[in-house]
Amino acid sequence: MIIKPKFRGFICTTSHPVGCAHSVQEQINYVKQQKPIQGPKKVLVIGASTGYGLASRIVATFGSGASTLGVFLEKPASNGNTATAGWYNTAAFETAATEAGYYAKSINGDAFSDQVKEKTIALIKEELGQVDLVVYSIAAPRRTHPVSGEMFTSVIKPIGDSFTSKTVDMNSNEIVDVTLEPASEQEIRSTVAVMGGEDWERWMHLLKEAGVLAPGATTISYSYIGPKITYPIYKEGTIGRAKDHLYATSKEINKQIQDINGKAFVAVNKALVTQASAAIPVVPLYLMLLARVMGKKGLDENCIEQMYRLLASRLYDTEKLPNGEHLIRIDDYEMQDDVQAEVSALWEKVCIGEIDIIPDLEKYREEFFKLFGFGFDDVDYEEDVREDVPIVSIK
Ligand code: NAD
Repeated sequence: MIIKPKFRGFICTTSHPVGCAHSVQEQINYVKQQKPIQGPKKVLVIGASTGYGLASRIVATFGSGASTLGVFLEKPASNGNTATAGWYNTAAFETAATEAGYYAKSINGDAFSDQVKEKTIALIKEELGQVDLVVYSIAAPRRTHPVSGEMFTSVIKPIGDSFTSKTVDMNSNEIVDVTLEPASEQEIRSTVAVMGGEDWERWMHLLKEAGVLAPGATTISYSYIGPKITYPIYKEGTIGRAKDHLYATSKEINKQIQDINGKAFVAVNKALVTQASAAIPVVPLYLMLLARVMGKKGLDENCIEQMYRLLASRLYDTEKLPNGEHLIRIDDYEMQDDVQAEVSALWEKVCIGEIDIIPDLEKYREEFFKLFGFGFDDVDYEEDVREDVPIVSIK
């Protein structure tokens, strides 16, 4: 099959297996060029196929020599449709990890369900015994509650008042105004149910009950805060409310795993182009300006660089771990005063049309395409490739 990108809304409905493999290999190469990490040895990554979860899995494997079990929700190729990017990423990751002698297996299914949790626990018991790190990196549009059966849909909306801001219209390449109406109480509750900490806590509870958490095990989940310009849509909006819940949950989990000397953390990561962030209004414009400023200052990082720094110089460097507080700020470069001052100045200018945003938009598009395996110079996109790439160890 000759595969070209096809768009619907803010997602790409096709993915390229060779391009995704290329992207995974680039991430592996980066980690292999860094110093080894005295880090985790047996790792469960929930949300392991794209973005921050995939990068965490790659760093754990190639940086710390860990065996990994990945859980995700992806589609294999079928009826002439390509697989999803996360499927191809995982196929490539598992091949590379296995060839390098590392254990890597995956479970494809709904992480919110108890069946997937039970299956994961059974596999850990059988093959790994226990895990010493659990990464929770789910970004999902909906969740069916495992006990009540209620279906929750998350929304990205402000809370209280409507919010009007500049945003980029990806079709016309123009800066336009967007007004977002405030969320209802039900929408806030639903977003917290999907993106808050309830499911993370359930995972940790069941893993502990089953005795598959190693003594001293660590768990980490990811959050975002960002600058004042995105507060109404992020920090003070529905997703921010869910992230507050996630952080509150980390404190509960800390108490629950104290007896095995376990620790729970939330890392506040940098804003990056991923499938999840592309769906948030206003944020792509901020991301474009941020990349311009951080790039100029030599401070820009992608997912793999962020996750390497998180594991190498924070999570597994106990001297740098925050005392008592279980919040790790790996968004420190993004939030530097000088970076934010320049981004704000650009934001004002973009609002009155003084700067040319087209080069930034092109760069953003390139990054976005790459999430689906498109746009790599070394990949021949005219080549007929097999779309039905298997993930050998999939359960
Ligand atoms: P992503 O879309 O790249 O990855 C989401 C992962 O969740 C994928 O592996 C996907 O398969 C999995 N998933 C989704 N629904 C699932 C389900 N029902 N069952 C099993 N797996 C499921 O997202 P990302 O941007 O890497 O986000 C991961 C976390 O990092 C989120 O908590 C997000 O809020 C946080 N974060 C993201 C950014 C950013 O800018 N992208 C910044 C800071 C924090």
